Amino acid sequence: MANDTTIRETVILGSGPAGLTAALYAARANLKPLVITGNELGGQIATTTEVENFPGFPQGLTGPELVEKMQEQAERFGADVTIDTIQQVDLSRRPFRLTGHSGDYYAKSLIITTGASPRKLGVPGEPEFVGRGVSYCATCDGFFFRDKDVVVIGGGDSALQEAIFLTKFARQVTIIHRRDSLRAGYTLQERARKNEKIAFIWDTVVTKINGDPVVTSIELKNVKTGETWTRPTDGVFIFIGHLPNSYLFQGQLAIDDQGYLITDKELRTSVEGVWAAGEITDPIFKQAITSAGMGAAAAIAAERWLAEHEDETEPALVVG
Ligand code: NAP
Repeated sequence: MANDTTIRETVILGSGPAGLTAALYAARANLKPLVITGNELGGQIATTTEVENFPGFPQGLTGPELVEKMQEQAERFGADVTIDTIQQVDLSRRPFRLTGHSGDYYAKSLIITTGASPRKLGVPGEPEFVGRGVSYCATCDGFFFRDKDVVVIGGGDSALQEAIFLTKFARQVTIIHRRDSLRAGYTLQERARKNEKIAFIWDTVVTKINGDPVVTSIELKNVKTGETWTRPTDGVFIFIGHLPNSYLFQGQLAIDDQGYLITDKELRTSVEGVWAAGEITDPIFKQAITSAGMGAAAAIAAERWLAEHEDETEPALVVG
């Protein structure tokens, strides 16, 4: 795919549920879309061991299986999927130019589905135990902790909301926060404090996650007293914020103060011909199914826009 001088009708950046669903819809509209996968084919969902809340799969399936099915379905209708990571975009000229490790790509329209990545704690044991007790998604993984003791790291709305959700399954949920007051809003704080299954550990950070082969305990440190101790636990749910993958578009697209791409209700970004779908523009719902829905909507919008502009003079392609 190096230095592909084809001008694509639509290029889709990102291969999670939003990107692959946009690809399906764009392919079925005969736009012959190109999906550029990014670092991980499938995005965040590909790291989830079991997906039980995607409609149409009553028995559940693994994240990689869902991604594979979505890719197969998009390819069946003519989508191309290429493994590359884009390093640079130029949205100031048409066609848009995207520069990846394998070369340049050109597009009349662009759908950005680069997603968001959960902020990591950055402690030893965290990467090793992802999917084996370490999780960034209570909705995805909470079910596997029925009658277990779990800890939730963070003091914001996400941490409290997810901790409350986890009490449906877990025997005890302990929220570990690095300060002695919560960032979360009043209502969630009240609900969490009143929940008998929720306990709090204040002024404390996790310094290490232990286990073999699944999580068994964490090392903790009180940041005020310096006291350290080991706490047994079955699961570590980390909700310390998300980082939208929008750095490529800084200075070219409108981005909010949390790093999310700003879109209107038709998922248009601030540059005509560029749409965004999924977690790159959604700090609220953050589900595979909501991202997939947004991907479909963005592809429909792109198709309509391309149809309205098809009579316009083909822009000159300047390669090199
Ligand atoms: P957030 O508001 O940024 O909170 C992140 C939490 O993680 C903070 O308590 C922070 O501690 C802690 N934290 C950050 N880095 C840490 C680290 N390295 N080690 C330990 N703790 C760390 O993120 P969020 O909770 O994901 O919320 C994001 C946005 O979505 C917010 O605007 C929120 O209001 C919104 N949201 C709303 C709802 C709702 O209304 N129901 C639900 C979810 C999210 P400090 O407090 O000390 O900084």
